[in-house]
Amino acid sequence: MHYQPPSNLLNNKIIMITGASDGIGKEAALTYARYGAQLLLLGRSETKLKQVQQEIAAQGSHPVLIFPFDLLTAKTSDYQALAKEIANRIERLDGLLHSAGLLGEIAPISTQDPELWQQVMQVNVNAGFMLTQALLPLLLKSPKASLVFSSSGVGRKGRRGWGAYSVSKFATEGLMQVLADEYQGTSLRVNCINPGGTRTSMRASAFPQEDPGLLKTPADIMPTYLYVMGDDSSNESGVSFDAQPNRVPGAAK
Ligand code: NDP
Repeated sequence: MHYQPPSNLLNNKIIMITGASDGIGKEAALTYARYGAQLLLLGRSETKLKQVQQEIAAQGSHPVLIFPFDLLTAKTSDYQALAKEIANRIERLDGLLHSAGLLGEIAPISTQDPELWQQVMQVNVNAGFMLTQALLPLLLKSPKASLVFSSSGVGRKGRRGWGAYSVSKFATEGLMQVLADEYQGTSLRVNCINPGGTRTSMRASAFPQEDPGLLKTPADIMPTYLYVMGDDSSNESGVSFDAQPNRVPGAAK
C-alpha cells in the first residue's frame, strides 16, 4: 500500500496491541508510538514486553503500559479481570490490533496433533473473541474505534499442510465479518490485515529453507497497519486488507 500518513496520524489515540513482544506486533508498537499513539501492549513474556517498552521510551514517545498475559492459558475470568484493570487506567480504547498468533505444525490433517490443534485455535481464534468481547465497552467509548485482526493468505484459500493455522485464519476472517456486520453504522469499524510473507520468527518456522532476505520486513508493511488504525480508514469496515497486495503466496523466490 502506498500510503503516506501524516506524522500526527495517531495523536490522542489509545491503542492496544497483542503479540507486541515480537515480529509484526512489536513493529506496529514502535510505529504507532512514533505516530503519536498512547499504547497498551500485551504479550506472554514480561521481559520481552519491557524491552519494547524501553525501545519506545528511547524513541521519546508516550509512556507505554504493558500487560503480561498468556492467551493460551487465560480463562474467561482472566479476560474480565484484565478489562477491569485496563478500564481503571484508561477511559476509552481507540484501537485494538490482534497480532498475537501461533503457527502450530506444518503437517497434513491426517497427522495434525489434536492438542496442538486446540492450542492454535485457542490463541488465534478463542483468545481474539474473548479479548474483543471484554474490551468492547471501552472500544465503544471511542468516537472512532478501529478493531483489527491478523489474517493470512491461507485464511482465504486452504493450502495443504497448513492445518489448524489455516482453519484458524478462516475463523478469524469470519469473526471479523460477523463483528463488522453487528457494528455497521456505529463508531466501531472491524477489519483484517493479511500481512503476506514477512520476515519474522513465525515465518522462519513455517519456511525454514527460505532466504529471509527475500521477504519484506515488518517495517515495510507498516503503511497498511497505519492506514487501518488511523482515521483515514474511518469508512472502511468488513474489509480484509492485503499489506502486500501483489505478492504471490508461498515461499519467496
Ligand atoms: P511472531 O511469531 O513473530 O510473533 C507472534 C507474537 O504473538 C509474539 O509477540 C508472541 O509472543 C505472541 N504470542 C504467541 N503466543 C502467545 C500467547 N499464548 N499469549 C500471548 N502472546 C502470544 O509472529 P508474526 O509477527 O509473524 O505474526 C503476527 C500475526 O500475523 C500473526 O497473527 C500471524 O498469524 C500473522 N501472519 C504473519 C505472517 C508472516 O509472514 N509473518 C503471514 C501471515 C499472517 P512471544 O514474543 O512470547 O513469542
